[in-house]
Amino acid sequence: MALIVQKYGGTSVGSPERIRSVARRVAKFREQGHEVIIVVSAMSGETNRLIALTKEVAANPSPRELDVVVSTGEQVTIGLLCMALEDIGVPAKSYTGGQVKILTDSMHTKARILDIQDAPIRSDLSEGKVIVVAGFQGVDEFGNITTLGRGGSDTTAVAIAAALNAEECQIYTDVDGVYTTDPRIVPEARKLDTITFEEMLEMASLGSKVLQIRSVEFAGKYKVKLRVLSSFEGREGEGTLITVEEDKNMEQPVISGIAFARDEAKLTVVGVPDKPGIAYQILGPVADANIDVDMIIQNVGRDGMTDFSFTVARGDLDKTLKVLETVKEHIGARSIEADKAMCKVSVVGVGMRSHPGVASKMFRTLAEEGINIQMISTSEIKISVVVEEKYLELAVRVLHKAFGLDADDAK
Ligand code: ADP
Ligand code: ASP
Ligand code: MG
Repeated sequence: MALIVQKYGGTSVGSPERIRSVARRVAKFREQGHEVIIVVSAMSGETNRLIALTKEVAANPSPRELDVVVSTGEQVTIGLLCMALEDIGVPAKSYTGGQVKILTDSMHTKARILDIQDAPIRSDLSEGKVIVVAGFQGVDEFGNITTLGRGGSDTTAVAIAAALNAEECQIYTDVDGVYTTDPRIVPEARKLDTITFEEMLEMASLGSKVLQIRSVEFAGKYKVKLRVLSSFEGREGEGTLITVEEDKNMEQPVISGIAFARDEAKLTVVGVPDKPGIAYQILGPVADANIDVDMIIQNVGRDGMTDFSFTVARGDLDKTLKVLETVKEHIGARSIEADKAMCKVSVVGVGMRSHPGVASKMFRTLAEEGINIQMISTSEIKISVVVEEKYLELAVRVLHKAFGLDADDAK
């Protein structure tokens, strides 16, 4: 008998029928003799609806109250799933994050899990109950409701699997595994049987939202066996296993996948005096305003002047512009330019380490399509470029083909 944690995302619990289908699947697992803990998201669209609702009553709702509202979606699903389970004769008990309790820090809307109290869950499990836990939410040391950032139910599931030493954490979603890129953009994308933690971490951090990045970090740190698979009948299969080691027996592909992030914005501080401390004087106030900066480029100086560019999430653009207006006065820059519609496209693969020429192939492929690269950043296992957002689909598709990832190109 094994303890399995299963997480069902928004689409998988998106209707009463889907919830009943999840209940039947869980009942089957239990009949096989497994202990099961289920983590669920809000029904699809619900979190967006709640966020929109808050915007209708206040332009800038406080993060604490935002969490009070957006965490409710998951509470509905845990109750409904338990009812559906009991309806088919499976004893079940729901837990909100606060009831578990999933202790987090107090960073509302992007809280981090600090500790999980597993004793009550263990005792219910030993009585043969299925435990259904609300994803995405926790509680801080003062009893405030917190949420873990968009897609955070994945992290709840992995954290519970780690705390209870589960045999496996299964992330059920609307695709049957991790693909070479988002199959919604490239229909020729291929499902990967395995992907290394390192690669998955890059894919997630560079925009592939199939797993929230923190869930992958957690799984790597606590050695949780993590699998992504489909909750849709007939499509289950083995999904994709996230592995610690790359498979030494297999010829490693140079590139495992292509990730992309929409909604980036680029800012350029034009005509900055080229002297020590400039990067700090520009980015210090940006960091103090709690704005995450992604890529940074300082151009080569000429005649004592230079330009300084960086990217932020598009949602942070207005806030960043405000900060930069003050910075501009302070350092005597000429002007501030903003490019709103940018995106980031990245190729990821541990095989890159032993294969030179990935960057030149990437740049050539984009050049052949007339796509101008505005910024570049590299690490051992990834190369990212910032391009205009109108080129996103095209860039992902041509790179997918160029690196031999299209389904037709598979051996
Ligand atoms: P859930 O609601 O189950 O958490 P998400 O919408 O968060 O589901 O994540 C699943 C989606 O992630 C898929 O529908 C797919 O469009 C998208 N996705 C992005 N990149 C990838 C990828 N490399 N492999 C598979 N799916 C991906
Ligand atoms: N319901 C939350 C969201 O939409 C959490 C999740 O689905 O993982 O972001
Ligand atoms: Mg998700």
